[in-house]
Amino acid sequence: MNDKLVDASEATVSVFDHGLLYGDGIFEGIRLYDGCVFKLDEHLERLEYSAKAIMLKLAWTRQEISDALCETCRANGLKNGYIRLVVTRGVGSLGLSIKNCDQPQLIIIADTIQLYPQEFYDNGLKIITVPTRRCNPSALPPAVKSLNYLNNILAKIEAQHLGYHEAIMLNDQGYIAECTGDNIFIVHKGELITPAASSGALKGITRDTALAIADELGIPWREANMTRYDVWVAEEVFLTGTAAEIVPIVEIDARVIGNGKPGPVTAKFLESFKRRVSIEGTML
Ligand code: PMP
Repeated sequence: MNDKLVDASEATVSVFDHGLLYGDGIFEGIRLYDGCVFKLDEHLERLEYSAKAIMLKLAWTRQEISDALCETCRANGLKNGYIRLVVTRGVGSLGLSIKNCDQPQLIIIADTIQLYPQEFYDNGLKIITVPTRRCNPSALPPAVKSLNYLNNILAKIEAQHLGYHEAIMLNDQGYIAECTGDNIFIVHKGELITPAASSGALKGITRDTALAIADELGIPWREANMTRYDVWVAEEVFLTGTAAEIVPIVEIDARVIGNGKPGPVTAKFLESFKRRVSIEGTML
């Protein structure tokens, strides 16, 4: 926390921290594979952009955050795991104003990760569309990875209430934005298509990796407005996210996708992704 390594039981924040009071802060979820932090620079860049967008002045350089992050992993003896990097607005008075919050708090949690069961990758995941709409980008830009996740949590509650693990969220025009914690892609007539950030999607780091894999595989890709119809009739659908990696989707809103099994294109993406995490990354 800030400049110190502290035991988890002593890692506490003030009840006056605006991160707690208002969800006023930003975060990143990052993976550690075999002692290497995957896409560290990309995550730190997104953190800087999130900070800029919410007018939070980071008191640390990218190098300082990177060093602290690696040190936290080493101190926990981790070789594989999940790192949660959190920056809160810091302690202020009871009120929305950020004027009295002059010291942002930096929190780095290095832990193990609860992965989706292997069955989801072998047999694919079934998802649904939920009623809760993704925040309008002109109200709260979904590109900001903010501590305020209530929008996604409400959607996740709806998904789980209906017995699903993940769900599609539409934007206020009815186009697909993303899932509650993952980006979405379809494969249709040889093309890879995903909603643009302007549709309400987070600019996922795994999403960018998937687009780089498409280039590597020679698969044309584009960003487009996507409707529920588009995903229902796609040959393949998959989700991307730091925790989920690449998950095949085999059913959406009770419509079977493709032949109901994870498709060959998704398998190629997953294979390339696994290769990338084992050879790319910042060594601890
Ligand atoms: N969308 C949302 C809403 C997310 O919270 C996340 C991260 N879990 C993603 C997409 C995927 O982004 P990334 O690949 O950077 O983890």
